[in-house]
Amino acid sequence: MPEAIFKTENLKVAYGKNQVIHGIDWNITKGEVTALIGPSGCGKSTFLKTLNLLIRSMSDDVKVSGQITFSGKNILNKKIDAIDLRKQIGMVFQQPNPFPKSIFENVAYGPRIHGVRKKRQLEEIVEQTLTEAYLWDEVKDRLDDSALGLSGGQQQRLCIARALATNPDVLLMDEPTSALDPISSQGIEELISKLEGQYSVILVTHQMEQAARVSDTTAFLYMGELIEVNKTSQLFSNPTEKQTEDYITGKFG
Ligand code: ADP
Ligand code: MG
Repeated sequence: MPEAIFKTENLKVAYGKNQVIHGIDWNITKGEVTALIGPSGCGKSTFLKTLNLLIRSMSDDVKVSGQITFSGKNILNKKIDAIDLRKQIGMVFQQPNPFPKSIFENVAYGPRIHGVRKKRQLEEIVEQTLTEAYLWDEVKDRLDDSALGLSGGQQQRLCIARALATNPDVLLMDEPTSALDPISSQGIEELISKLEGQYSVILVTHQMEQAARVSDTTAFLYMGELIEVNKTSQLFSNPTEKQTEDYITGKFG
């Protein structure tokens, strides 16, 4: 069996009395791009946000149970420090959300809160991660300008650089191109393909074509149940489950 970056066992999430994730058992393969597809409201964002503890049991309003193993530990254990964990698990959202700070400070933010103080070292990290995110050439002469002056596609690449700056193992992406124009979306897809191998990427997308283009493995989630996990080419050409077939052929969702 390939090495898993995350292993979930009987993972359940409920908002009040509304259970939206129904006992998911899934080994997510390390070093791959994994796509999570499914109709709106099926629980994709909820699932993704439990992986970095953005959603965790707090009160009666949100209840998370089961196990999520990451780096050999069950991260649903109450002793796990979420800030520490997110150093290893970066996240990028649907709307680019740079901080209202300079381009430099956006990328330096994570390393700073994790204790990097030396200016030289921060400069190196900023250059390296902006290069990784294919943004360096476009911004190297204006690192002190506000990040809010960048285009949408540039802002999203900046958010990816910000996530990579703490040298994470995983990048979680929740519909990262849905607010972008086609050219910028293509840029982000190319970037995702280049990150593969060095990082594990879990990509939530409602665009099946996007999942088909960039992922190795695709999972179909429907009403909080993991219906099928398969090689992407297999899932889209010859799915095992009838429900997957109905979804990818547009019969519902
Ligand atoms: P998806 O990302 O697949 O569209 P979500 O995970 O956002 O699905 O939502 C799954 C279900 O959980 C939906 O019915 C949604 O209304 C509900 N839900 C999502 N977030 C909350 C929340 N913070 N409080 C209560 N219900 C929520
Ligand atoms: Mg969502």
